[in-house]
Amino acid sequence: MTVPFYNFTELHNDEFKSAIKERFSKIIDDGAFVEGEYNASFEQKFAKLQAAKHCLLVANGTDALEICLEVLGVGPGDFVGVPGITFYATSEAVLNRGATPVFVDVIPESGLMCPQSLERVLSKHKLKAIMPVHIYGLPAPIRELEAVCKKHNVAIVEDAAQAQGTFLENGPVGSSNNMTTFSFYPTKNLSAFGDAGAILCQSDEQAERIKHIRNHGRGGLPIFGRNSRCDHLQAAVLDMKLEKIDGYNQARKKIASLYHEALKDFPVRVLPSRFIETSSWHLYPIGLASKEQRARVEAHLKAKNIGCTPFYERSQSEEPALKNYAQLGEDENARAFAGTIICLPIHPFVSQEDVATVAAALKEIL
Ligand SMILES: *Cc1c(COP(=O)(O)O)cnc(C)c1O
Repeated sequence: MTVPFYNFTELHNDEFKSAIKERFSKIIDDGAFVEGEYNASFEQKFAKLQAAKHCLLVANGTDALEICLEVLGVGPGDFVGVPGITFYATSEAVLNRGATPVFVDVIPESGLMCPQSLERVLSKHKLKAIMPVHIYGLPAPIRELEAVCKKHNVAIVEDAAQAQGTFLENGPVGSSNNMTTFSFYPTKNLSAFGDAGAILCQSDEQAERIKHIRNHGRGGLPIFGRNSRCDHLQAAVLDMKLEKIDGYNQARKKIASLYHEALKDFPVRVLPSRFIETSSWHLYPIGLASKEQRARVEAHLKAKNIGCTPFYERSQSEEPALKNYAQLGEDENARAFAGTIICLPIHPFVSQEDVATVAAALKEIL
C-alpha cells in the first residue's frame, strides 16, 4: 500500500478547486494582480489567528527572515546566532544581509536551539540577533532564550516557517514580542500555489518599516527597499485555506499521537510526547542508531512506496556552503542529531491504517 509523503490531491480536492477557480477568475477580470483585497483580508485574519498586532505578507519565507534582520539593522560586521539544526534558508538570510552566522547548539531530544549553549556562545561572540527555529513544528524555548537575550541585549527573530499551528508558553506562535516569520511554500502546513511568506509583529514602527521595504521603499519613509510583494493569486489561496487550517493541524496532532503509540516499543527515538499538543507537527522525524541504519530504513520504506525524507542530513556547520563559518559557535549535539533522522508521512490525510502500514514496514527493517 502506498503512503505518500505529501498529498496535494486531497488538499486541493474538487470543492477547493472550483472555489479557488472562481476567485482566480474574478482576479483576472479585475486585473488586480498584486496586493489586492485578499492580501488585506488574509493579513487581518492571520494576525488575529496568531495573536499578533500586525501581519505583513511578503514574497517568501527567506525574504521574511532577511527583511526582519534588515529592520533590526543587521548588516556587514554583525554576528547572528542560528541553530545547528534548521533548513539552510535561516543561515542564508544572515549571509544575504552580509552578516556572519554563528551556530548555537541544539537540545539533543528535540533539535531546538539550546538556551545554555546560547549563554556559552554569547560569552565568546557579541551577537546582534538570534534566529531560533520552531523546527519540525516544535515550539522553541522562547521564554528561556528571551531571558538570556535580555541580559546581553540581543534581538530575536523567530523562524516559524514550519510552525503554523504551534503554541508557545503564552499563546500561538506570533504572539511574542519578537518578529516571527512564516513560509507558505507548497509543502508547509499553510501553503500557497507557489511562493509566499509573512512576518508577524506587535510593533507599529516595525510594521511600517516592513511595508516600505517589501514595496521598493514606497510609502514616505526614507527607506531603501526591494520587491518582496506577495501577489494577489497567492493571497487568495492562503485566505481560502485559512478556513480549514485548524482542522488540518488537529489531524496532524492525531496522527503524531498514533505514531507515538505505534512506535513506543521500537528501537527509535521519537520527539518528546509533551509536544503532542503544542507542535504543529509539520514533520514527524524519528531518530535511528546510525547514518547506515538511517539509509537502510529509507531504502526499505521507499521500496514499500512509503514516502520519507531525511530532514536534516547535515547540521548547518556541515553544509558545504557554510564551511567558512563552521568554527563559529557550538555544534556537537547538532552534528550527532543530523544524519540519523528520517521523517515519516504526516500530512493531514494520513489514515490510521497508513500509520499501521508504516509501523509494520519499520518493524521489518529494524
Ligand atoms: C521553508 C523554510 C524556510 C524558507 O522558506 P521559503 O519560503 O522557501 O523561502 C526558512 N526556514 C525554515 C525553517 C523553513 O522550513
